[in-house]
Amino acid sequence: MYQKFQAFLQNELNDIKEAGLYKNERIIVSPQSGEITLKNGQKALNFCANNYLGLANNPQLIAAAKEALDTHGYGMASVRFICGCSDLHKELEKKIAEFFGTEDTILYAACFDANGGVFEPLLTDQDAIISDALNHASIIDGVRLCKAVRYRYANADMADLEEQLKKAQAQRFRLIVTDGVFSMDGNVAPLDKIVELANKYDAMVMVDESHSAGVVGKTGRGVTEHYNLRGKVEILTGTLGKAFGGAIGGFTTGKKEIIDMLRQRSRPYLFSNSIPPMVAAAGCKMVEMMSSTNELQDRLHENTAYFVEKMKAAGFDIKPTQSAICAVMLYDAKLSQDMAAKLQEEGIFVTGFYYPVVPKGQARIRVQVSAAHTRENLDKCIAAFTKVGKELGVLK
Ligand SMILES: *Cc1c(COP(=O)(O)O)cnc(C)c1O
Repeated sequence: MYQKFQAFLQNELNDIKEAGLYKNERIIVSPQSGEITLKNGQKALNFCANNYLGLANNPQLIAAAKEALDTHGYGMASVRFICGCSDLHKELEKKIAEFFGTEDTILYAACFDANGGVFEPLLTDQDAIISDALNHASIIDGVRLCKAVRYRYANADMADLEEQLKKAQAQRFRLIVTDGVFSMDGNVAPLDKIVELANKYDAMVMVDESHSAGVVGKTGRGVTEHYNLRGKVEILTGTLGKAFGGAIGGFTTGKKEIIDMLRQRSRPYLFSNSIPPMVAAAGCKMVEMMSSTNELQDRLHENTAYFVEKMKAAGFDIKPTQSAICAVMLYDAKLSQDMAAKLQEEGIFVTGFYYPVVPKGQARIRVQVSAAHTRENLDKCIAAFTKVGKELGVLK
């Protein structure tokens, strides 16, 4: 059998390569940071990690993780409800709820699991899920695992959401679900209007704060802080793998009965291992740090504003951003790839995206700014963009 299957796979893989969609991995030998070292010794400035607050290599988090290795060991070797729960897991759940102003939290191995396990235990074929068309893959998969009737609305399009909500009046319970920040444009979901519509059409709201937690809002409390809606949304999901330290882990936080039901019935929670105690300990440290100072969020916001302003002044077309994601619009697919490659030669790591990841004719380079970037790092990036932009005729 395998010979036939092998030929089939080789064929498919070749198609992927020919379409220019084959993913190669760059091998980093230093810690993840604003500046990284590659296997070939090359140093590069990293503008494509989700390390928004620069915590992936933070000494305080490393110290907290090391201490927990000594006090709590390496792994839990169990799912939570059998014997995979430590005091550190409970403490982190409480701290995440305090951070977001919610009632309770449940931890998962990743936000992919949080989203994969949130819908099916809560909703049935009598209910409705109304989902933004640009929601993350894990939300799409989670919705697929649930029998609820599905409605989709165009990205952040409130007229369309209202249309879908009208149709969904046929169902018993309604849940609107949206990413907090959309990762290709960096725009924030219009949560104020979503909540207004939810009230008008008797629906609940879920926001995935993966790209917004730690980033959006004056103190980084995410999209609910940005719209002054802390505690007003039934369900939030998020990751420990981006701004929150970048290691691993996800969570759902929100109304206590919802969290309680997920502990009883959510399959990725019931049938998958607990996060390592050191990750829980570092997570607790992370929340403590963010509660005692706003330094990292302030630096991230300053860095992002500085980058956008200078890039616009240099003549680049930057999508309006409300996060740390800056889309440098190039429109042409090949140009986005050529430019990203030339920037890499200049020691700047960024990613070029084109169809089908973004709409046709909307190719771009996505830059992710971090609190780990120094002013010199940002200036070097802007200078490299300007040089390469001129070479490729993007800038006159
Ligand atoms: C990154 C991301 C996830 C997945 O998070 P992991 O913890 O890495 O699994 C889920 N949702 C959104 C919106 C994301 O951006």
